[in-house]
Amino acid sequence: MPIATVNPATGELVTSYDPFGQDRIERLLAEADTAFRTYRTTPFSRRAEWLLRAADLLDEDRDTIARTMTVEMGKPVTAARAEAAKCAKAMRWYARNAERLLADEHPDPDDVHDSGASRALVRYRPLGVVLAVMPWNFPLWQVVRFAAPALMAGNVGLLKHASNVPQTALYLEDLFLRAGFPEGCFRTLLIGSGAVEAVLRDPRVAAATLTGSEPAGRSVASIAGDEVKKTVLELGGSDPYLVLPSADVAKAAATAVTARVQNNGQSCIAAKRFIVHADVYDAFAERFTAGMRELNVGDPLQEATDVGPLSSEQGRADLEELVDDAVRRGAAVLCGGGRPGSLGGGLENGWFYDPTVLAGITPDMRVHREETFGPVATLYRVADLDEAIRVANDTPFGLSSNAWTRDPAEKERCARDLEAGGVFFNGMTASHPALPFGGVKRSGYGRELAGHGIREFCNATTLWYGPEE
Ligand code: NAP
Repeated sequence: MPIATVNPATGELVTSYDPFGQDRIERLLAEADTAFRTYRTTPFSRRAEWLLRAADLLDEDRDTIARTMTVEMGKPVTAARAEAAKCAKAMRWYARNAERLLADEHPDPDDVHDSGASRALVRYRPLGVVLAVMPWNFPLWQVVRFAAPALMAGNVGLLKHASNVPQTALYLEDLFLRAGFPEGCFRTLLIGSGAVEAVLRDPRVAAATLTGSEPAGRSVASIAGDEVKKTVLELGGSDPYLVLPSADVAKAAATAVTARVQNNGQSCIAAKRFIVHADVYDAFAERFTAGMRELNVGDPLQEATDVGPLSSEQGRADLEELVDDAVRRGAAVLCGGGRPGSLGGGLENGWFYDPTVLAGITPDMRVHREETFGPVATLYRVADLDEAIRVANDTPFGLSSNAWTRDPAEKERCARDLEAGGVFFNGMTASHPALPFGGVKRSGYGRELAGHGIREFCNATTLWYGPEE
C-alpha cells in the first residue's frame, strides 16, 4: 500500500510514496548500526552544535514546514507554526542541558567504601539504535521530543512515522542531515505498520519508543518484550478537568475550550472529561458551551481558523459512533453533535466535525471509558471533591489531569489522589522540555522530556574500582 498524504480539509490526494523495500530497510539498518559505533563517542559539545544548528534551520523553515503539516493532517496553520517553534526550543534546551543531565553520579563515599571500592560511580552511556514509531497528531513535536534527547545522549534514531505524514517525516531526516549530524544518525523509514515487527526484532535495534494508540503500543511492547528490548510507551488519554467551587469559573471555562479543541481536539493531553462541582456547574456549562459554539471551524490554512478537520475519514467516523452511542443512551447535546453545514471553498469533502458538548454522561456510555479524539467534550456534575476524584479516576487512562481550585487542601488532595502522570492546577496541561511527560495505567509507561526522558535510552553503567586503586 502506498504511503500517502491526503489533505483532510479537501479529501484530495497530495502526494504518495512507495514504501521502502527489504533491501533499502537493510541498508538503513546497517548504516544506523555503523553510525552508532562512532557517533556514540562524539563529545556533547559537538552534538550540541549540530542540534543548535537544527533548531536554527527549523526556525528558518517554520512557515513552509507548518504549511506541510497543515496540508498533511489538518491542524490550524497557526498551531503548526507554534509547534515548529516549540521543537526548536526543545532542541536548544537539550543542546544546553544534556551534558549536565547525563553527568556521572557519585554515590555517598560511605556507601562506596561499604561496597569494597576505592571509588564507584554511575555513568550514562547510550543504548544504540532506537526505533521511534510516531503518530501524526503533532508530526514534528512527537519526533523531536524523542530525537533531541536521544541524539544528545549518543543514540541514533530510526523513525517510522505515521503513514499520513510522510513529507514531514522526510523533512525531519533532511533537517538533521543539513544540521551536520553524520549520515545514519537519524533516518526515516517509509514503511507501513506491518513492517515494524521485523525492524524491531533486528538485533541491531536496541530499543523502541512508541507514541500512539493502545493497540499499537501493545503490539510493539509485546514484540519488544519477546526480544527483551527496552520500550517507552506514550499512549492515549482521557484527561479529567476538575472545576471546584473556589475556581475562577470564567477563566476555567475559557481555558477549557482551548484545552479541549487544541489540535482540532486530537491531542492525547487534551482535557476530555469536564468534572464540575454542582455549585458552579451551571455557570461553567453555560460559559464553556458558549465558547465552544463561537469557535471558527474551517480551512486550517486560514489564520482565523480555530478548528480544522479531523485527520482522517475513519477518525471522524469513530468520533461519530461515540457521540451517537452517548446520545442513544441519554446524553444531552449542549452544542454541536454533528458535521458542520456546508463550509464552501472546496471544503465540502473535508473531514470536519462541529465542536460538541455532551452532558448527562453515565458510566454505560462509551465516551465515559474511551478516548474522544476530536472536538467533543463530556460534562459531569458532581456533589463534592470525593466524587470528582472518583469520576476522574474511573478511566483506563492516566496521562494528565487538571484541577481548578484556590483551596490549598484541595490541591494537596488532587496531587495525592489523581491517577495520572501530571496534575496541572488552574491551567491546562502542556508539555515543556524541562518537565517530565508521560502516563500511568493504559496511557503507557516511561517518561519523555527533562532528565527522565534523556535517561530512558541510556545504560546506567556502574563503574566500580577495587581497593588497590
Ligand atoms: P496509531 O494508529 O497507534 O498510530 C501511531 C503510530 O503507530 C503510527 O506510526 C502507526 O503507523 C503505528 N502503528 C499502528 N499500529 C501499529 C502496529 N500494530 N504495530 C506497529 N506500529 C503501529 O495512533 P493514531 O490513532 O494515529 O494516533 C492517535 C493516538 O495516539 C491517540 O490514542 C492519542 O492519544 C495517542 N497519542 C499519545 C500521545 C502521548 O504522548 N501519550 C501523543 C500523541 C498521540 P501507521 O500510520 O502506518 O498505521
